[in-house]
Amino acid sequence: MDCIFDKIIAGEIPSDKVYEDGEVIAIKDINPSALVHILIIPKKHIESVNHMDEADSALIGKLIYTASNIAKKKGLSSKGYRLVFNIGEDAGMVVNHIHLHLLGGQKLGAMV
Ligand SMILES: [Zn+2]
Repeated sequence: MDCIFDKIIAGEIPSDKVYEDGEVIAIKDINPSALVHILIIPKKHIESVNHMDEADSALIGKLIYTASNIAKKKGLSSKGYRLVFNIGEDAGMVVNHIHLHLLGGQKLGAMV
């Protein structure tokens, strides 16, 4: 499988790691769209939210929980931040492996 996130998780491609445990990894986005832009990624390869099973619900919930902990550590909790899942081409999903974007550290523009 040619998945860049699987290679990052395996350590075959270097990344700027913010957090890691047995189930998830969080890395800085290499092409940030905000002062803080972190990707929270499950180690299990799931192509997108469209490809989730009910059994994946807790894992995907953990992405959100992990994001909230990172936001706390970065001092974003009180000022606010944004969490985004992109799904598919129209949303601009680039890597076909579920990932949650954590955006913050600045005033964020309104979304379409
Ligand atoms: Zn993958």
